[in-house]
Amino acid sequence: MSTSAQIGVTGLAVMGRNLARNFARNGFAVAVHNRTAAKTRALVEEFGHEGSFVAAESAEEFVAALERPRRLVVMVKAGEPTDAVIREFAPLLEPGDMIIDGGNAHFADTRRREQELREQGIHFVGTGVSGGEEGALNGPSIMPGGSAESYATLGPMLEKISAKAADGSPCVTHCGPDGAGHFVKMVHNGIEYADMQLIAEAYHLLRTVAGYEPAQIADIFRTWNTGRLDSYLIEITAEVLSHVDAATGKPFVDVVQDQAEQKGTGRWTVQIALDLGVPVSGIAEAVFARSLSGHSELREASRDLAGPKAAALGETEAAAFADQVEQALYASKIVSYTQGFHEIQAGSDEYGWNIDLGAVAAIWRGGCIIRAAFLDRIRAAYDARADLPSLLSDKGFAEEIGAAQDDWRAVLVAATQQGVPTPGFSAALAYYDALRAERLPAALTQGQRDYFGAHTYRRTDREGSFHTLWGGDR
Ligand code: NAP
Repeated sequence: MSTSAQIGVTGLAVMGRNLARNFARNGFAVAVHNRTAAKTRALVEEFGHEGSFVAAESAEEFVAALERPRRLVVMVKAGEPTDAVIREFAPLLEPGDMIIDGGNAHFADTRRREQELREQGIHFVGTGVSGGEEGALNGPSIMPGGSAESYATLGPMLEKISAKAADGSPCVTHCGPDGAGHFVKMVHNGIEYADMQLIAEAYHLLRTVAGYEPAQIADIFRTWNTGRLDSYLIEITAEVLSHVDAATGKPFVDVVQDQAEQKGTGRWTVQIALDLGVPVSGIAEAVFARSLSGHSELREASRDLAGPKAAALGETEAAAFADQVEQALYASKIVSYTQGFHEIQAGSDEYGWNIDLGAVAAIWRGGCIIRAAFLDRIRAAYDARADLPSLLSDKGFAEEIGAAQDDWRAVLVAATQQGVPTPGFSAALAYYDALRAERLPAALTQGQRDYFGAHTYRRTDREGSFHTLWGGDR
């Protein structure tokens, strides 16, 4: 076996296979390996003409095929399979070699693996990869963590295979050490959940309150996609809504069971936010909305609960309402990105990652599921002020959300009157109103805590902690 491959990919299901082809198409010699060797052979047979592949049947062959320092990309099922692959390959590697985990690993696992392998002198590079199988082939958004040393040689290769933003810059950046890349990918997915939920609520309102049919709503989304909501998710939403089911002739969306599934990264985003004390209420509502949709027995048992009796809007009112929904969607989207970036900042502070939030926004402009014109604005906001306390403190976003708030409220009034659940829109508005409130009822909460638990409170007029001797025999 020659030692000529510049990079190796093990794990050749949809993601690994497409990533390997992407490296090969970009001129890299790629060693390929899979636990089940038939997949390795199939890849080379089918796509060998696309570039230079070295098919390896065993772990030893795979490692021997790689030039040093070795760069070994692992694209296997996240969790225990990743540990199994590390156990298999690490003993065959030498100091300076790199294991690049492109799976959807939990960042805490990445931190553990990085530490264990560092003791062996091996660079473990936990790397977020977004864009699905199409992105893996034609250019994903890539979020590597790991050592700066590993990025020096790996980075230029990743830049070549990554998506390119509209200004031509590669959608990859070294997010920070150890688990930073997988943390950023986790929050990306949390924001993706929120974006999808907000779009779903907009659709629900346009259908129920405005009385539009799916094909009409598809046209509305197409129009929105030419403005400030221009994004991959809005674009595909229009495609899904205009799709007609071939078997029944009905709108596709009407023949799909209304139970949303999830794989876990959105849930992790919320779990970690709870640990870090970061209010990601919009993302949390998106995760809960999927959970609620899946509780068919609960929903079945609740069908007879009373609801309002309200008629759908007339034609002129419906068009005006659609414009208001666009405002509500945009404002809520600003809030969910605000919350997501807050979580990245908090993670970066907690783990000492020094993540550049502007660079994160920049690499999400292309390749990934949440890619959107809007991210260029976020990048500009953080570039103008790296220590921005919140996206909402950026003048441009503050003005836009301020201009949208009347319509946002009107949409929520209509939703409430017509009994349409809008947990994402509502949570986003509650967050906005809580942030701008001069006084919050948290003062009363502190009083209650001091009353029953002597937890003490701080005063508005004096320094220090105080406790009141509440009356009675407590
Ligand atoms: P997958 O279905 O998650 O995993 C299948 C691959 O893992 C196969 O190559 C399989 O080998 C290998 N594997 C499973 N258990 C193994 C073990 N114990 N030892 C060695 N290999 C093992 O594949 P995928 O959808 O291509 O995703 C790969 C990774 O990318 C995952 O971590 C996923 O979360 C992440 N990801 C996926 C997407 C997506 O859109 N699908 C997007 C971003 C990130 P065999 O062929 O031998 O079974």
